[in-house]
Amino acid sequence: MPSHIRSAWLRTLGMLLLLLLLAALLGWVAGHVWAFVTVAALAVVAWHYWRLRKVLLRLTARERLAPARGNGVWNELDRLLHRSQSEMRRRKRRLVNLLRAYRAAAAALPDAVVVVERNSQRVQWFNKAATHLLGLDYPNDIGAPIGTRLQPLPIPRWLAEGRNAEPMLDAASPVDPNLRLNIRLIPYSDDHWLLVARDVSKLLRLEQMRRDFVANVSHELRTPLTVVHGYLDMLDPQEFPEWTPMLAEMQKQSQRMTQLVEDLLTLSRLEAQDSLPDESVAMAPMLATLRREAEAISQHRHQVIIEDHAGVDLWGSNKELHSAFSNLVSNAVRYTPVDGTITVSWKRKEDDGVVLSVSDTGYGIPAAHLPRVTERFYRVSTSRSRESGGTGLGLSIVKHVLSLHQARLEIHSEVGRGSTFAVHFGPERVHPRDRHPTHTPSDNQIA
Ligand code: ADP
Repeated sequence: MPSHIRSAWLRTLGMLLLLLLLAALLGWVAGHVWAFVTVAALAVVAWHYWRLRKVLLRLTARERLAPARGNGVWNELDRLLHRSQSEMRRRKRRLVNLLRAYRAAAAALPDAVVVVERNSQRVQWFNKAATHLLGLDYPNDIGAPIGTRLQPLPIPRWLAEGRNAEPMLDAASPVDPNLRLNIRLIPYSDDHWLLVARDVSKLLRLEQMRRDFVANVSHELRTPLTVVHGYLDMLDPQEFPEWTPMLAEMQKQSQRMTQLVEDLLTLSRLEAQDSLPDESVAMAPMLATLRREAEAISQHRHQVIIEDHAGVDLWGSNKELHSAFSNLVSNAVRYTPVDGTITVSWKRKEDDGVVLSVSDTGYGIPAAHLPRVTERFYRVSTSRSRESGGTGLGLSIVKHVLSLHQARLEIHSEVGRGSTFAVHFGPERVHPRDRHPTHTPSDNQIA
């Protein structure tokens, strides 16, 4: 206890004793000691009750009362209460200001922010942007179930996935279907979730413009290239012996440009698709085709091994999967020196999925390049890629085809020892191999 409070307490105690002593003395003079002492004690109790009432008044008063003066224990208590009340008010004001600032910041965000109560899935708060992006209306929608308010967005199913909910990257706004939203769920406490929606219409339009531009340019280049290619084919090097090396180079370059245009068109086509037809992909003929293609590119300079251990087939697009697998096989041959080995293996996985891996004993890829090799035009060695007729787009095509099949590409590589490109398919893509297929996709269909 601080010394000034202890001395105030002792002073009040001393006053009480002095009062009782005085009452006893007066009582002794008047001949009624106990009556005087009792009256004095009752007066002291009454005074304490009166002070207690003052304390209660201070604690319950709405307006601010001035602190008491004087140096008794009740005055000290009054001053202590006054001080702690002032501190509490100051803290409350600071917190309210802070809360207002946060709310103002959240309200001013250009993204829609909605606080959702987790169990009831009801709206607790939302900012201004939520009104024009999601169509929420203040104050009517406070407490409204978010799922029904944001129909036709599949919000309840999405909320049910909870923490694992993947962001909805391109969803139509319930207000205007031309408004494209990127919606994500942020579980920021056990009871509350934050739903954040961002307007990505402009970004998607730009992305579409880029895609259209690449597709149009590639398409426009196709005809002139075919013409140039045709005339070059008509020129007989034997008629112009001095032009032979130049003609060969021109033919090589025009072939490269044709391949580049074809690859760009394939990529644009894949990008424009959300899904592919689910056909039965017979893997035995597919593996046989891959072997033939590998041997054709290799010209018997490599050993090609095919291992078909899975004994199952796939659901997917014959054409696109063939294009992805054959890109991997062609890379394996092109980036493996003469006498190397290319192994294509088709195996079951423990999780009932299946994996197609293409391994080579070639140059390998340095670890630093691995994360980027599936980017467009990314090459580890530009000269080696060009020499072998690469466009730098093969692995991008592979990545797109695989993502349309919900499959995953895993790359392991060691410089000087070789690389393995493994394509992992989930169990939902696998189906038992038909021993006597009534309809087997022909090689023509695949190619
Ligand atoms: P490219 O047409 O140049 O082969 P890709 O997209 O198919 O383009 O491959 C990108 C780059 O990845 C290649 O340029 C090459 O450097 C590297 N790469 C791809 N496959 C292999 C492989 N099997 N072995 C070594 N490097 C490879």
